[in-house]
Amino acid sequence: MKNIFGVFGGCLLFAVLAACGEESAPADLVIMGGRVLTLDETVPEGQAIAVQGNTILAVGTMEEVQRLVGGGTTVIELSPENLVLPGLIDAHGHYMSLGESLMQLDLRSPRTWDEIVALVEDAVAGAQPGDWIVGRGWHQDKWDFLPVPSVEGLPTHSSLSGVSPDNPVMLIHVSGHGAFVNGRALEMMGISSDTPDPEGGEFVRDSSGTPTGMLREAAQDVARAAVAEWESSRSEAEIDAYRRRQVELAGANALENGITEFHDMGASFETIDFFKGMADEGTLPLRIYAHIEEPAERLDGRLPDYRMVGYGDGFLTVRGIGEKVLDGALGVHGGWLLEPYADIPRTSGFNVTPVDDIRRSAELAAEHGFQMAIQGIGDRAARELFDIYEKVFQANQELEDLRWRIEHCQIIHPDDMPRFEELGVIASIRGVFATSDGPWVTSRLGEERTRERGYAYQSMFQSGATVINGTDPPVEDINPIVNFYLSVSRVMENGEVFLPDQRLTREQALATYTVNPAFAAFEEDIKGTLTPGKLADITILSRDIMTIPEAEIPNVDVLYTVIDGEVRYEYEAGD
Ligand SMILES: [Zn+2]
Repeated sequence: MKNIFGVFGGCLLFAVLAACGEESAPADLVIMGGRVLTLDETVPEGQAIAVQGNTILAVGTMEEVQRLVGGGTTVIELSPENLVLPGLIDAHGHYMSLGESLMQLDLRSPRTWDEIVALVEDAVAGAQPGDWIVGRGWHQDKWDFLPVPSVEGLPTHSSLSGVSPDNPVMLIHVSGHGAFVNGRALEMMGISSDTPDPEGGEFVRDSSGTPTGMLREAAQDVARAAVAEWESSRSEAEIDAYRRRQVELAGANALENGITEFHDMGASFETIDFFKGMADEGTLPLRIYAHIEEPAERLDGRLPDYRMVGYGDGFLTVRGIGEKVLDGALGVHGGWLLEPYADIPRTSGFNVTPVDDIRRSAELAAEHGFQMAIQGIGDRAARELFDIYEKVFQANQELEDLRWRIEHCQIIHPDDMPRFEELGVIASIRGVFATSDGPWVTSRLGEERTRERGYAYQSMFQSGATVINGTDPPVEDINPIVNFYLSVSRVMENGEVFLPDQRLTREQALATYTVNPAFAAFEEDIKGTLTPGKLADITILSRDIMTIPEAEIPNVDVLYTVIDGEVRYEYEAGD
């Protein structure tokens, strides 16, 4: 009798299953032992989850799911402190730029010149002879000691040339106002002792007049031009291989961070063609929800050909137009505001892409069933977008449920806050921006305006908006756990909390990475919760970010990333 009750208990929890109990076909994958948080009210929690093919079969207790283990079942055993979540979705990034940024050496952290040389040596090992090696972010004041030999506090190229004799190297200074190159690059550019300095720049030289490799200001232009020329001179096959590497690197970076779907905000037609090719091969590393970024005149006539939903076994969807930027960034006084900047009252920022172009794109989007996802950073930009969207919605009342989006929404006037819900416009926020901008944004807007309109993420939730999140990689690191932490803590680097009333709860922050972006992509029936029957996209964390002390959240690791029932990333000690 006990056994029968057990089976019935299982049936209740496996409510969505047609078959249950001992007659069920065995699962392909079973994950057991951690806390499974489904975000589905029907069965909110479990101790184990079973997957069959690419879909979730069941969530339940250990005993219940154990019965679905057969001879061919892969079983992942977790510790009780691990957390199993619906696959995390980064709702705003730039996929190919992320890949490209990962191909360039990140030189921000090395504390000696020798470390930089070692990084270049590694990069050379993975490059073809003749390929440019590009790095950026170094600053000589960060180094613990002077390079030997050195000229004016900077190295000479001999060390770099030693590790990279056949590959030209360009290492851009963090300021962007100079670059360091090796001997091969100097040779290719024809720079020698006899070469005069260009106007507005200089080739740093040693005591004998030989260029050291340091190019100051305008002197770096020739190196940048050489890199650009190399890029454009590559064969089709080389460009193809380069793009493939971009896709793979961005994919690996996303997967190791637990991301199962990436909302790509700026894909050209060429990029989408490339994604499509990889989707056909089945080689896209994760699911991509791409927005086309092209001027309105290029969209006309081509949109229908590019609309695809669940293409390549569900790995590629294109049904959006983004991320045109209606305005600029607040840091450089570019965000378009309703009133002038507090610190430079002569300006209210800039309208970057003309409003008419956005309006035309919006009309085309409505005509062809596309979603709009346009950047509005300042309150004026957001208002313009609400106005454009509202007009288009009114003119196309037969169209329902368009789910158009405003990207970033850093400054929102209180009068506009209710319009998210009224118009069904999605608020696409970057949790991390609140804390990276927090230290200086008050100087741009003044105290009162900042408090009233700045990074008002909790107010968005309160207003009834659907709020989605993401880090805008490569602008910020893709790490969703850190972004989750910053969304709930709003702790800035200086230790202060930026506008504490606007902190999200952990439940809200988790929704911005799961159910809400699934809804924003019209995918709430197949993603966003761990509901039997939905796609088996699962992220497993080392600890329970919903219950551990807040300050410990950033140290949580991603243990597994599962997409379509397949483990695509697994943590290894030392990662
Ligand atoms: Zn962006």
